[in-house]
Amino acid sequence: MASAQGYPLLCLENPILDIQAVGLFSDKALLDKYGLKDNDAILAEEKHMGLYDELLGRNAKIIAGGAAQNTARGAQYMLPDNSVVYIGCVGHDKNAETLKEACEKAGVHTEYRVDDVQPTGKCGVVITGHNRSMCTHLAAANEYKIEHLKQPHVWSLVEKAQVYYVGGYHLTVCVPAILALAEEAAAKNKIFMLSLSAPFIPQFFKDQLDSVTPYTDYIFCNETEARAFSDSHGWDTHDIHEIAKKLSQLPKKNSSRPRVAIITQGTLPTVIAVGKASGEVDVTAFPVREIPKSDIVDTNGAGDAFAGGFAAGIVQNKSVHESVDMGSWLASLSIQELGPSFPFPKKTY
Ligand code: ADP
Ligand code: MG
Ligand code: MG
Repeated sequence: MASAQGYPLLCLENPILDIQAVGLFSDKALLDKYGLKDNDAILAEEKHMGLYDELLGRNAKIIAGGAAQNTARGAQYMLPDNSVVYIGCVGHDKNAETLKEACEKAGVHTEYRVDDVQPTGKCGVVITGHNRSMCTHLAAANEYKIEHLKQPHVWSLVEKAQVYYVGGYHLTVCVPAILALAEEAAAKNKIFMLSLSAPFIPQFFKDQLDSVTPYTDYIFCNETEARAFSDSHGWDTHDIHEIAKKLSQLPKKNSSRPRVAIITQGTLPTVIAVGKASGEVDVTAFPVREIPKSDIVDTNGAGDAFAGGFAAGIVQNKSVHESVDMGSWLASLSIQELGPSFPFPKKTY
């Protein structure tokens, strides 16, 4: 049931059921059987379709995945009850119910479009030693339509939200829906956040990305995505401070808020650029929260968790500095769990 007051944070992207083989059950023979490389991320072909049931038969860990769905769960982890709603497209199947239940358990309200033809998206994850092989079948996640967003009961959630977070992978799915959120944010002076999500987004979806960046109040990326953005825009620099600065200075629709560019770099400091009306830019670097190597279980989804903690800070009107620390804190919890998940019972910041 949608809450009458709505949810302050609204996230949009591609809901994916992560099916992650655990420990001993993950093995080289499984990789070989499906022709997977040990360290890779690919889109599934026909020959991979048996992988998912095989993983499920091996007692795999199920996670409500898809980058922004991870971020939504992460933000809710740090916020009061009923703070986050997540939107995307699923199929008419049991996996969709599993996703919805996993989100509900994390306190995230879902408002999925249900596609009648395609099955719910899924990602098989096979871990061997320190390597990870991910095989994604987007399926229904690729079928999101703006008509879903514009339905009165969904649009009223859009209107009630104060902060929007869109995962960059959605730029390959439904740009009109992203722009509808972006325009709503700019028109009502609300906050619009975008993550680049992967290097192939600035490389191969540059036009779609460039249509959205003018609306961004916060733009997130990791160091590889930042350099891919720089390359695709002919900036001729791989310097992270310089790229952060240039991202913060890109044209902006809503001039009443400065743009903040946030570049994470794994264990290296997070670089933040805040554009100013004068055209000047403040660039600062914040160290991450160090975790002993022996405590790290899995760094997959660290960036999604960081964005969740950061967004939780912004929703609560915290400063950029404190929001960065909330992001680092949440990311440090997530990398001590298998997959993009968070410890229960809950820890408090
Ligand atoms: P992505 O998952 O998108 O590649 P990063 O690797 O940059 O993102 O990680 C995002 C954030 O997660 C970092 O800024 C940091 O706060 C945290 N993080 C990632 N790896 C580690 C680590 N090994 N130790 C501590 N914090 C980490
Ligand atoms: Mg990384
Ligand atoms: Mg990332």
